[in-house]
Amino acid sequence: MIESSVEVQVEPSVELSVVIPMFNEEEALPALAERLRPVLDGTGETYEVLAVDDGSTDGTAGQLARLRDGWPQLRVVRLRRNSGHQAALTAGLHHARGHYAASLDADLQDPPEKIPEMLALARSRHLDIVYGVRGNRSSDTGFKRRTAAVYYWLMRRMVGDHVSAQAGDFRLLSRNALDALRALPDQPQVYRLLMPWFGFPSGEVVYRRDPRVAGRTKYPLRKMVLLAVDSVISFSVAPLRLAVWLGTLAFCVCLAMVGYTLAVYAAGDTTRGWTSLIIAVLFVGAVQLICLGVLGEYIGRLYTAAQQRPTYYVAEDTGDRVPAAVAGRS
Ligand code: UDP
Ligand code: MG
Repeated sequence: MIESSVEVQVEPSVELSVVIPMFNEEEALPALAERLRPVLDGTGETYEVLAVDDGSTDGTAGQLARLRDGWPQLRVVRLRRNSGHQAALTAGLHHARGHYAASLDADLQDPPEKIPEMLALARSRHLDIVYGVRGNRSSDTGFKRRTAAVYYWLMRRMVGDHVSAQAGDFRLLSRNALDALRALPDQPQVYRLLMPWFGFPSGEVVYRRDPRVAGRTKYPLRKMVLLAVDSVISFSVAPLRLAVWLGTLAFCVCLAMVGYTLAVYAAGDTTRGWTSLIIAVLFVGAVQLICLGVLGEYIGRLYTAAQQRPTYYVAEDTGDRVPAAVAGRS
């Protein structure tokens, strides 16, 4: 049985949490710590750095343990297995104990120096969300830029214009927004679509997205496609509607074919027609398979939601006095 998060309110104990999901980031970690710590120490705020180790199989866990020795504000939430970027982010945001929580990538593509600016903006204008907005993507590869352009175009068409093409997962959330997140059922979320959907007062801080500091991207094409499919299906029924249109189109084509077939029959010329027959069979078959696939995606998600399996499992949280294996949220 999953605990409902609503009654498990977090009592903030620090001013700022910095949530960093990481998967096999041993190469990037030293540079991250070196750049992040002076920025956070310099703010004079109480803070915690919440590193979510998303089931890393390299030296990430060992590195984090070493870093913790000299950095008491570093807290490590270790997930039992690799659960994916968005699930790791969920774990971090659920466990954050700050009045505000910033989320950023471990590879220093999101500059930590912008965090104090985000915090100041949120406080001065009483904002619940401050998005990090990319000034330009010149540091991304051409392939990444093109796929991102297609992704955001599709999302804006299907989900709505409130999806910013330039906002990724670098943002600051207030306790209000964090509580709203915790109140949601534990299902896979796509945060860049979910956060604008809440409708909280929000602002933007522009930043330049740097190249990854070390190591390789953890988002191969396969994961990018999965994120895109998740994004569409979790926020829109447009593909189902598309299936209806496809079906209607196939029906119209079939009607035309019926007319043609009858005409040929009346003319007594019925032996020809192999090509059109095969085309019709293949066309109808393909449309049916596509529609079934679309239906299947939605049913699959309903099925997963009905099973109520948590999206992540916490193996250890160094912020707990007694480390224990905790299922789902704690
Ligand atoms: N990440 C994660 N779990 C995964 C994949 C990625 O926690 O299964 C983290 C990764 O360590 C990084 C962030 O998500 O901190 C973004 O990943 P990456 O930089 O590889 O993606 P890209 O910037 O290339 O889109
Ligand atoms: Mg990156």
